[in-house]
Amino acid sequence: MDFLWEMQQSSRISDASSKAHKAESRAKGLEFEVTQMRRQIDRLSLACQSMWELVREEAHLTERDLERKILEVDGRDGRIDGKISSRVIVCDNCGRNSHSRRDVCIMCGAELNRAHKFSV
Ligand SMILES: [Zn+2]
Repeated sequence: MDFLWEMQQSSRISDASSKAHKAESRAKGLEFEVTQMRRQIDRLSLACQSMWELVREEAHLTERDLERKILEVDGRDGRIDGKISSRVIVCDNCGRNSHSRRDVCIMCGAELNRAHKFSV
Protein backbone atom coordinates (compact mmCIF):
# COMPACT_ATOMS: atom_id res chain seq x y z
CA MET A 1 0.00 0.00 0.00
CA ASP A 2 2.76 2.45 0.93
CA PHE A 3 4.69 1.51 -2.17
CA LEU A 4 1.68 2.21 -4.43
CA TRP A 5 1.08 5.54 -2.71
CA GLU A 6 4.77 6.43 -3.12
CA MET A 7 4.58 5.61 -6.83
CA GLN A 8 1.51 7.82 -7.31
CA GLN A 9 3.11 10.67 -5.42
CA SER A 10 6.29 10.35 -7.44
CA SER A 11 4.28 10.44 -10.66
CA ARG A 12 2.34 13.52 -9.48
CA ILE A 13 5.54 15.31 -8.52
CA SER A 14 7.04 14.52 -11.90
CA ASP A 15 3.92 15.82 -13.71
CA ALA A 16 3.87 18.98 -11.60
CA SER A 17 7.56 19.56 -12.24
CA SER A 18 7.06 19.15 -15.99
CA LYS A 19 4.14 21.61 -15.97
CA ALA A 20 6.19 24.10 -13.95
CA HIS A 21 9.04 23.94 -16.47
CA LYS A 22 6.60 24.46 -19.37
CA ALA A 23 4.98 27.39 -17.57
CA GLU A 24 8.37 28.94 -16.84
CA SER A 25 9.40 28.58 -20.49
CA ARG A 26 6.13 30.14 -21.65
CA ALA A 27 6.49 33.00 -19.15
CA LYS A 28 10.02 33.73 -20.44
CA GLY A 29 8.70 33.77 -24.01
CA LEU A 30 5.92 36.16 -23.09
CA GLU A 31 8.32 38.37 -21.15
CA PHE A 32 10.47 38.64 -24.28
CA GLU A 33 7.39 39.54 -26.35
CA VAL A 34 6.38 42.24 -23.87
CA THR A 35 9.90 43.71 -24.00
CA GLN A 36 9.76 43.76 -27.81
CA MET A 37 6.31 45.38 -27.76
CA ARG A 38 7.49 48.07 -25.33
CA ARG A 39 10.35 48.90 -27.70
CA GLN A 40 7.91 49.12 -30.61
CA ILE A 41 5.59 51.36 -28.59
CA ASP A 42 8.52 53.60 -27.65
CA ARG A 43 9.56 53.90 -31.32
CA LEU A 44 5.96 54.56 -32.43
CA SER A 45 5.47 57.16 -29.69
CA LEU A 46 8.65 58.89 -30.76
CA ALA A 47 7.58 58.84 -34.42
CA CYS A 48 4.07 60.11 -33.57
CA GLN A 49 5.40 62.92 -31.42
CA SER A 50 7.90 63.94 -34.10
CA MET A 51 5.27 63.84 -36.86
CA TRP A 52 2.84 65.83 -34.74
CA GLU A 53 5.43 68.52 -34.00
CA LEU A 54 6.29 68.78 -37.71
CA VAL A 55 2.65 69.02 -38.75
CA ARG A 56 1.79 71.42 -35.92
CA GLU A 57 4.61 73.77 -36.91
CA GLU A 58 4.02 73.59 -40.66
CA ALA A 59 0.22 73.79 -40.56
CA HIS A 60 -0.07 76.08 -37.52
CA LEU A 61 -2.29 73.64 -35.64
CA THR A 62 -2.90 73.48 -31.89
CA GLU A 63 -3.08 70.72 -29.30
CA ARG A 64 -6.86 71.25 -29.33
CA ASP A 65 -6.93 70.49 -33.08
CA LEU A 66 -5.07 67.25 -32.41
CA GLU A 67 -7.40 66.24 -29.56
CA ARG A 68 -10.45 66.93 -31.74
CA LYS A 69 -9.00 64.75 -34.54
CA ILE A 70 -8.14 61.94 -32.11
CA LEU A 71 -11.77 61.87 -30.93
CA GLU A 72 -13.04 61.89 -34.54
CA VAL A 73 -10.82 58.97 -35.56
CA ASP A 74 -11.55 57.06 -32.35
CA GLY A 75 -15.29 57.39 -32.90
CA ARG A 76 -15.29 56.01 -36.46
CA ASP A 77 -16.04 52.52 -35.15
CA GLY A 78 -18.94 53.84 -33.10
CA ARG A 79 -17.09 53.79 -29.78
CA ILE A 80 -14.91 56.39 -28.08
CA ASP A 81 -12.64 53.92 -26.32
CA GLY A 82 -9.13 55.16 -26.99
CA LYS A 83 -8.29 52.63 -29.67
CA ILE A 84 -8.80 51.85 -33.32
CA SER A 85 -10.89 48.72 -33.53
CA SER A 86 -11.01 46.51 -36.57
CA ARG A 87 -14.25 46.28 -38.46
CA VAL A 88 -15.85 44.79 -41.52
CA ILE A 89 -15.30 46.75 -44.72
CA VAL A 90 -16.73 46.15 -48.17
CA CYS A 91 -14.34 45.52 -51.03
CA ASP A 92 -14.74 48.18 -53.74
CA ASN A 93 -13.85 45.61 -56.41
CA CYS A 94 -16.03 42.57 -55.63
CA GLY A 95 -18.46 43.93 -53.04
CA ARG A 96 -17.69 41.22 -50.51
CA ASN A 97 -16.98 41.82 -46.85
CA SER A 98 -13.39 41.90 -45.72
CA HIS A 99 -11.48 42.81 -42.57
CA SER A 100 -10.20 46.34 -42.02
CA ARG A 101 -6.83 44.99 -40.90
CA ARG A 102 -6.15 43.40 -44.28
CA ASP A 103 -4.32 45.17 -47.08
CA VAL A 104 -6.01 43.17 -49.83
CA CYS A 105 -9.40 41.48 -50.22
CA ILE A 106 -9.25 37.78 -49.38
CA MET A 107 -11.86 37.03 -52.06
CA CYS A 108 -10.52 38.87 -55.13
CA GLY A 109 -7.08 40.14 -54.10
CA ALA A 110 -7.89 43.80 -54.79
CA GLU A 111 -6.25 46.42 -52.61
CA LEU A 112 -8.66 47.51 -49.89
CA ASN A 113 -9.44 51.15 -49.22
CA ARG A 114 -8.56 51.21 -45.54
CA ALA A 115 -9.68 54.20 -43.49
CA HIS A 116 -6.88 53.67 -41.00
CA LYS A 117 -3.52 53.32 -42.69
CA PHE A 118 -1.59 52.60 -39.50
CA SER A 119 -3.86 50.17 -37.65
CA VAL A 120 -2.61 46.65 -37.12
ZN1 LIG B 1 -12.74 41.82 -53.29
